[in-house]
Amino acid sequence: MRFEAIIGHEGIGSKLRAGVQSGRVAHAQLFNGPEGSGALSLALAYARYLHCQAPSEEDACGSCVSCKQYNTLQHPDLHWSFPFFKKDSSEQSMSQPFQNAWRERMLADPYFGLEEWLGAIGADKKQLFISVQEALELNRKLGLKSFQGGWKVLILWLPETMRVDTANKMLKLIEEPTDNTVMLFVSEQANQLLATIRSRVQMIQVPRLSDEDAAVGMNRRYGVDLEQARQWAHVTEGNVAAAMRMQHSGGSEVDRDLFIQWMRSCYVQETPKIVALADDFAKPGRESMKRFLLYALHMVRQCIVGNYGAQSLVRLTKSERAFAEKFAPFIHHGNALEIQQLLENAHRDIAGNVNGKLVFLDLSARVSLLLRKPA
Ligand SMILES: [Zn+2]
Repeated sequence: MRFEAIIGHEGIGSKLRAGVQSGRVAHAQLFNGPEGSGALSLALAYARYLHCQAPSEEDACGSCVSCKQYNTLQHPDLHWSFPFFKKDSSEQSMSQPFQNAWRERMLADPYFGLEEWLGAIGADKKQLFISVQEALELNRKLGLKSFQGGWKVLILWLPETMRVDTANKMLKLIEEPTDNTVMLFVSEQANQLLATIRSRVQMIQVPRLSDEDAAVGMNRRYGVDLEQARQWAHVTEGNVAAAMRMQHSGGSEVDRDLFIQWMRSCYVQETPKIVALADDFAKPGRESMKRFLLYALHMVRQCIVGNYGAQSLVRLTKSERAFAEKFAPFIHHGNALEIQQLLENAHRDIAGNVNGKLVFLDLSARVSLLLRKPA
């Protein structure tokens, strides 16, 4: 990942490079940005730039020994840490058994979220964390001499998953840094970090991407049709990770089928069926629930677009369209805003760890009433 490959955020990139050029490199920095904003990509491009042997003002050279090592993420002075779970078979709880999976995930594409990471390591619904042992190991690694004589760089993803004892061990490293060490923390929710850590790092705020930056970026980076990319970017509020998730599941059949059954059951107020669907909704885990709610939001918005006569703007697959044509008349100016608001609230509640089934049942009751509201 070089700066040129990053979606948007040109201003942050040039500030980071200017810092390196003028020799101002803080030893502990916190890139704080929501999922899909590209904070992890920025940290990686910055690390490469720090290690590059012939950087220009604009970017790492891409061809020196160090850059070549970055091409496979095998630079000996680049260290990674991230949330993981304790494998039953392993005595210690460390990131080591997951480093290969991490490298593969990063090489495939650094615009991903916790959902993709959970999938990559088969963690399913397990709670991920960064252990004390891991922090001790990082202390040890960063205490060693650098292999190539330059910076030792640590990129630690989601420091908010550190437990307090872990965070305190990292705090020690921040307060008494080892030689030539740069620690890059990449957070989605810096407000959940210990205040003592937050106050000791240089904060780099990475805002969410604008819809248009995200859409153009998805078009260039992944070849997603620009109009389609705009749609996903709009639904996900510029979250490239979530947008690509939607692109891949692009009306995944599971989401589509659940949505269709759900809307029918809500309309006829078939409570036993709704209760059964609540299980289907909650079972696959929190990230899937969030994705489903975004999908529902997308479907509702498509119905609105269709209802206002802009058929050419409607982006639906053939099977979705067949359902939407029958369903769209039930979405109208008298309920459209409220339904969208309910879906957004539900998404926020799920992200905030509220019980999935309860959210679904409450949402269903409210949507049932709104669907029966006359136009
Ligand atoms: Zn280079």
